[in-house]
Formats: sequence, C-alpha cells, structure tokens
Amino acid sequence: MSTETIEKAPPQPDQTQHREISEREAREVAEAAREKEWTLPSFVREMYLGRLRMDLIDPWPEPKKDDGERGEEFLKKLGAFLETVDGGALDNEPGMPEHVHKGLTELGAFGMKIPQEYGGLGLSQKTYTRALALTGSHSSLISSTLSAHQSIGVPQPLVVFGTEEQKKKYLPRLAQGAISGFALTETDVGSDPARMRCEAVLSEDGTEYVLNGTKLWCTNAPLAELLVVMARTPVKDGKGGGITAFIVEMDWEGVALTHRCSFMGLPGIENGVVEFTNVRIPVENRLLDEGRGLKLALVTLNTGRLSIPVTCAATGKWCLQVVREWATVRKQWGAPIGKHEAVAQMISSIASDTFAMQAVADLGVALADSGKFDIRLEAAMGKLFNSEVGWRVADQAMQVRGGRGYETAESLEARGEAPIGVERMLRSMRINRIFEGSSEIMRLFIAREAVDPHLKKAGAVADPDATFGAKAKDAVGLGVHMTGWIGQNLVGWSRKPSYGKYGKLSGHVAFADRTSHRLARSIAMAMARYGPKLERRQAVLFRIVDIGAELYAMCASVVRATELVKQNPSDQTPVRLADLFCQRARQRIDDLFDDLFSDVDADAYKVAQEVLDGDFTWLEKGIFPPPAPEGIER
Ligand SMILES: Cc1cc2nc3c(=O)[nH]c(=O)nc-3n(C[C@H](O)[C@H](O)[C@H](O)COP(=O)(O)OP(=O)(O)OC[C@H]3O[C@@H](n4cnc5c(N)ncnc54)[C@H](O)[C@@H]3O)c2cc1C
Repeated sequence: MSTETIEKAPPQPDQTQHREISEREAREVAEAAREKEWTLPSFVREMYLGRLRMDLIDPWPEPKKDDGERGEEFLKKLGAFLETVDGGALDNEPGMPEHVHKGLTELGAFGMKIPQEYGGLGLSQKTYTRALALTGSHSSLISSTLSAHQSIGVPQPLVVFGTEEQKKKYLPRLAQGAISGFALTETDVGSDPARMRCEAVLSEDGTEYVLNGTKLWCTNAPLAELLVVMARTPVKDGKGGGITAFIVEMDWEGVALTHRCSFMGLPGIENGVVEFTNVRIPVENRLLDEGRGLKLALVTLNTGRLSIPVTCAATGKWCLQVVREWATVRKQWGAPIGKHEAVAQMISSIASDTFAMQAVADLGVALADSGKFDIRLEAAMGKLFNSEVGWRVADQAMQVRGGRGYETAESLEARGEAPIGVERMLRSMRINRIFEGSSEIMRLFIAREAVDPHLKKAGAVADPDATFGAKAKDAVGLGVHMTGWIGQNLVGWSRKPSYGKYGKLSGHVAFADRTSHRLARSIAMAMARYGPKLERRQAVLFRIVDIGAELYAMCASVVRATELVKQNPSDQTPVRLADLFCQRARQRIDDLFDDLFSDVDADAYKVAQEVLDGDFTWLEKGIFPPPAPEGIER
C-alpha cells in the first residue's frame, strides 16, 4: 500500500466566511452531544458522589465472553509476524509496504474488533489492546494504522450504530484490509466542534448529500479507502441540522489528499489533510440521523480511548527495563547510578507508576469487556491518568539515561553503543496528552459529570444566562440540597466498612473511602462558593478531577495487587509497588486539597490576561522571534 498522490497544496483557512462562535454556543453543542442517562453503574461516578464502591471493581470484572486460546493464538501469530518486519525501517519510509499490509490482512488484524459474522475476528477489547501494546513497541506505523482504523475509524461506529445494510456492505471489506480513519478535526475545529465548517447539504430529491470542506490531521488518510467524516448539515424545512456522520470513500470524485503531515514523534504515522469538493454521498452512507454525529463520536471514543492507557503502560514497561539495566551497569562517583538516592527515587517512581498505569489500563478494559458498566468516566480517566503519568515516566527514564537518553539510537549505534532510543520514545509519548481529547478536555468532561448531580439540583442557578428570578427561585432548592449533601458526607458511615482483606494495603483503601467523602463535600462547597461561575474555575475543577484520578488509580492498584498475590502467594512484589504508588498518591492528594481553593489562582489568571494584553512583551526581547501565527499582525 503506497501513499496516495498529494493533489495540491493545503488550503488556508478562510477567516472571512466564518462567523464567531460564542462560548455559550460551544457549550450548547457539547451539551447536546453529552450522554445524559446513567443506566449502568460507574465506579468513578459513585466515587465523586462520596461512595467508594469497591464491590464494582473487586472481584476484577470478568469478560462477557473470553477469547481464550483464540486470543492467545492470534497474539502469538502477530508477534511472529512482527519479527519478520523491520519496525525502524518501516517507520522511516512513507506508506505501508504491500507485504506488511498483506501479512496483517491475512492475520485478520484489520478485523480484530469486527464481529465474526461480518468476517472479522470478533476479539475482546483485552486481546485488541494487548495487540496494540505489542505492535506499539515495534512500529508506530503498524500500531497507529491498526488503532486509528479500529479504535476511532469506520468499524467501531459502524458496529455500534450502523444499519444491517451498512454493516453487510462495509464490515467484511474493512476486515479484509480496507483501511479507514476518522475525520473530525479542521483548521478551526480542535476541541470545539461548534466551529465546524465542513458542510453536507441534502440534495433536492433527498437521495444524496453534497459535501464540501477540509479535514485536518486525519490519521490513516494517506492509506485509507474509507473515512467516517463529521460534517455540519443545515436545517431543512425546520428539520434535521447539527453535526452528522457519514461514511465516505476516498476514491469518490472530489475527495483529495492535499498534504501529508509529519510530527515530533510517531515517525511512522500516516496522517493527512483531506479536501472534499462537491463530494456526492448517498443518503445510505449517513450514520445515524442528522445531528447525531457528535454523539456517535463521543460514544465511539468511550471505548476508543481505552487503547491509549494500554500503550502508555507498555511504554512504562519499556522505560522500566531501560533504567533497571542502565542504572545497574553505569557507574559514576564510585557506585552504580541506581545506588545514588536521586536516581533511586526516579527508578522506584517508574516502577510503581508503571504498575498503577497497568492496573488502570487493565481495569478499563475489564470493565468494558464485562459489558455490565458505563465506562465513559473510567475511559476518560484512564486516558488522562496514563498519558500524564506516562509522560512523567518517560521524562524520568531520559534523566536516568543522561546524555544517552537525549542522543538518537542511530548515533549511539554508529559510535558502538546499544541503540536504545529513549529520545524517540519520549517524542512519541507526548502526543497522548493531546489527541483523542486533550488532558484539559478530559478534565472538563470528567468535571462536568462530577458536578452533574449538583447541577441538576441547581437548575437555573448554574445557568449563567438564566434570569435572576429563575436563579433566585432555584437557589432555595440548591441551598437545601447543599446542606443535606455536606451533612451526609460529614456524618460518615453507619457501619464502618472493613478493608482487612487488602492486608498491608487496607489503610490505603480506608483512606480512599474517607477521601471520596471529602471530595464529594468539596464539590458541594465549590458549587456553593462559586455558583454558576464554577464552570469557569478550571483550576479548582481540575484539582477535583486529579484527586479523583489518583483515588481511582489507588483503588485499581490495590485490587490488582491483591489479585496477583492471591494467584501467586509466594510473590509479594505487586503489594510493594501498589503500596509505594499509594503512599505517593496520598501525598499528591494532600497537596491538591491544600491548594483546592488557592488564592494564587486569581492572580495567576490575571497575569495570563496581562501577558495576552502585551504587558510583558519587554520580557520577550533579545531573542530571534518565532514566526507569527495566522491572525497576528506584528
Ligand atoms: C498526530 C495526530 C493525530 C491526529 N489524528 C486525528 C484523527 O485521526 N482524526 C481527527 O479528527 N483528529 C485527529 N487529530 C487531532 C487531535 O484530536 C487534536 O489535535 C485535538 O483534538 C486538539 O485540538 P487542537 O490541536 O486543535 O487544539 P485546540 O483545541 O486548539 O487546543 C489548544 C489548547 O487549548 C486547550 N483547550 C481548548 N479548549 C479548552 C477549554 N475549553 N478549556 C481549557 N483548555 C482548552 C487544549 O487542551 C490545548 O491545550 C490528530 C492530531 C495529531 C497531532
């Protein structure tokens, strides 16, 4: 599979045609796409309500159906296939060589998550993510292609939302190697879909849509046969409208790949700009109804996001091996560097953080495979936690390797040293905090759900645009709710839960239990303190989310360690790692509570606005300035 010909230079964003979108409109679009119902239980949601429901994650959730031998067999074959291809060379060349595409197709790798009745392997999330971890440590081309195709590309939304005709038409083709991708982002649409300009207009006879616009950073576009494209559909005769999802074929007239993007990391990723000019899409290719595209994207990402935590944990393992071996053989100041306390602190962090990342990744996958839970918060939290912690781990691994961490693998090899590519790994890790929902957007998403029960009670009080009368009326209800809520979370337990079954780790679970009450109280206090303005107090909200993320990782680690020890009582090492992770997480949680309503926030925000107003441009003098972005006149 070679990359498509690049057809013309990327178009520049046309600022003149675009109407400014207000914050309220952006919020309304996001709110409309939000899933509002909770029909299945969620550990994280309960935790923010002050209820530590260990019973939801202990015993570790069992899969609805186990792949058993079939999964192991597939992973074995995949591993053997990877050994036949040179991952480094693959990542340095554009396109996917025919033999690699053929090999992956024959293995069924493009249909891992497609049900068997449609020609796929129908494997569980567990086997799928293990396959991504395996490929990710070998070639970013193979892992990014398989992941963009199956985590966010056409198969996932088609399986969940497609009609029977759509499934029969496309799923077998996708399973047989037709690569796909997901096209939401535009030059003006990153985290804010309200600004979307790609437009699909229904024809007069109602048989097709005509699509125009440009999509940016579409992973797999240079290799793809099919894309899920999000486009704005205008309201017609008072009906429809909103953002709608379509299956678009790359070889249709009017579809052009106009630029192939390259990045700081993921050297093998195939990613491009796609332009649509009067592309005719049959109505049969619309996924769900008009206006339901963002909902489709959000639901797709709920499970799609489970891949990133797994690949971050896999990178943590790689870092652990690198620092273990290097800190043993590298001697400075009369001792192996691992004996110096500063380095030892980093090594133990890498080990315990990797254990926690693995527990968080595995728990998200287990919850999804069981089919008994609503995983939207656990998936977002896993993505947030593992991408942030994974970055810390990668940075520490580079520090332990010293100058060799910063030197490229090629340069190391050329002068006779082992080609350990820490800098390359670090560059590829960084994107995890940005794509598939940046860390800030994940925190906003989680915070929205954490405060939701209070918002429901608050009604108009939390709506900045509601009339004062409506706010005053609802404020009475909110006051009653808050008093009850804080009281409820102060009183504590009618019967103190016992966590003795966790042995040495029981104190950490008791801490998590107490802290979930404290967290629920803090949310209520924040609502009472800031009212509708809480929405804008991101520093406070983000600390609330980060406390929750640490608690979630603590609980996942404790349950995982306890299970591992139960399986193999002679090996207590998982408890050592979970214990250290929990001790450090508790320190971080204490710091976050200390700073929860920090006085510094207001001043920090003010300084940022002064920076934007140009008050400190004197500080930028004396350097060669960076190029000005579009929209800035110097
Ligand atoms: C390698 C790569 C692959 C990608 N693959 C795909 C793909 O296959 N399909 C696709 O559609 N897209 C893809 N993307 C796009 C990716 O999902 C976006 O980069 C991401 O959504 C962020 O958008 P943005 O870069 O425009 O940042 P912006 O939205 O402009 O955000 C810039 C900064 O502001 C922060 N921010 C934005 N809004 C808020 C807010 N309300 N509150 C607080 N902070 C905020 C962000 O977190 C970020 O730090 C890819 C990107 C890359 C780099």
